[in-house]
Amino acid sequence: MPSFKRIPDAGNLTGKVALVRVDFNVPMENGLVTDDTRLRAAIDTVQSLRTAGAKVALLAHFGRPKGERVAEMSLAPIAGAFAKVLGANVSFIADCKGEHVKQAIADLPPAGVILLENTRFHKGEEKGDAELAKEIAALGDIYVNDAFSAAHRRHVSTAVLADLLPAYAGMTMEAELDALDKALGAPVRPVMAIVGGAKVSSKIDLLKNLVSKVDMLAIGGGMANTFLAADGVNVGKSLCEHDLAGTVREIQSAAKASGCEILLPRDVVVAKEFKANAENRTCGLNDIAADEMVLDAGAETIRYLTDALSRAKTVIWNGPLGAFELTPFDTATVKLAEAAATLAKSGTLVAVAGGGDTVAALNHAGVAGDFTFVSTAGGAFLEWMEGKELPGVTALLK
Ligand code: AMP
Repeated sequence: MPSFKRIPDAGNLTGKVALVRVDFNVPMENGLVTDDTRLRAAIDTVQSLRTAGAKVALLAHFGRPKGERVAEMSLAPIAGAFAKVLGANVSFIADCKGEHVKQAIADLPPAGVILLENTRFHKGEEKGDAELAKEIAALGDIYVNDAFSAAHRRHVSTAVLADLLPAYAGMTMEAELDALDKALGAPVRPVMAIVGGAKVSSKIDLLKNLVSKVDMLAIGGGMANTFLAADGVNVGKSLCEHDLAGTVREIQSAAKASGCEILLPRDVVVAKEFKANAENRTCGLNDIAADEMVLDAGAETIRYLTDALSRAKTVIWNGPLGAFELTPFDTATVKLAEAAATLAKSGTLVAVAGGGDTVAALNHAGVAGDFTFVSTAGGAFLEWMEGKELPGVTALLK
């Protein structure tokens, strides 16, 4: 288990100010929040700090204003939306540093909540600037980071503040770190990784890290074509990175050296057009015609991977196994997701998944809720799967 401090370790916080980094980078249309998942994710942390007696000053970014004040990227409309899900008043102040912000926090009632303006309106935020960090740290007594999704950045509000104030993981961060630790840090073996998606080139680091850590690596989606082609399979006009045969060899030999079995498709679903309900057929690997493209894994592959899954105790999943947005090329992704969800529900499998398209694919399969944990953090989740250090997490471990 990672040894970071959690909110209960902070003890009684009566009269103290907690600076809390949250992820409020929510989708908005015409000034209204269209999906409040991220707002709801902050509730537990905010309420537990209020219960401990603290005033809560929320730090967040919105969009990419690049150090300028951009009116459309103000967090002002989010304060009301958060107040609604929290069921308490949330005030707003149009900056995140300075005497007037300090005064606004002082003026809050006990256990009051205030949202500070977009941290990225200051150039120093993304640079991790020490001066800006000092000014923001002066507003609070403790720092709580609840934004795992921004933990791959060493920004003032995501990491540097932890050097200046007693630092704690918020409850959403805590849940994420605990789940990730169960999947790759100290997992119950055998561990199976399922990696799909379009291209090997965007996941080279991820594949190299995984083969050193997991017992089985199933490769699906467009990237499986690159692996098959490197093994001499004619993949027709499939999405395929033929120039990456050398990289595939490197990944294969690293896997062999660390005892990781790579599981590739054994049969495929092919079509001549990349569109929903395109005429298609299932065929063996040596039977793909020059004008056909592989859009999904076939039934034999689904059985092969489901069987591997039933031998695993832990699965970590990123990327769809086919062009899942187009029916019926979502079949392998949906079937395997259902199998993982059933095993997770019965308690025999720890099933962790993450990354943008993966969350969409699991939602499409209707099983995201049955997984042990589904991370909605895109970049941070992938960098963690790549084995990279996440500055926001490292800062909490000090
Ligand atoms: P990624 O962002 O790398 O996880 O890739 C996800 C995308 O890969 C999705 O939009 C899928 O439609 C696409 N994809 C998966 N398998 C295939 C395939 N066999 N051919 C073309 N696109 C695919």
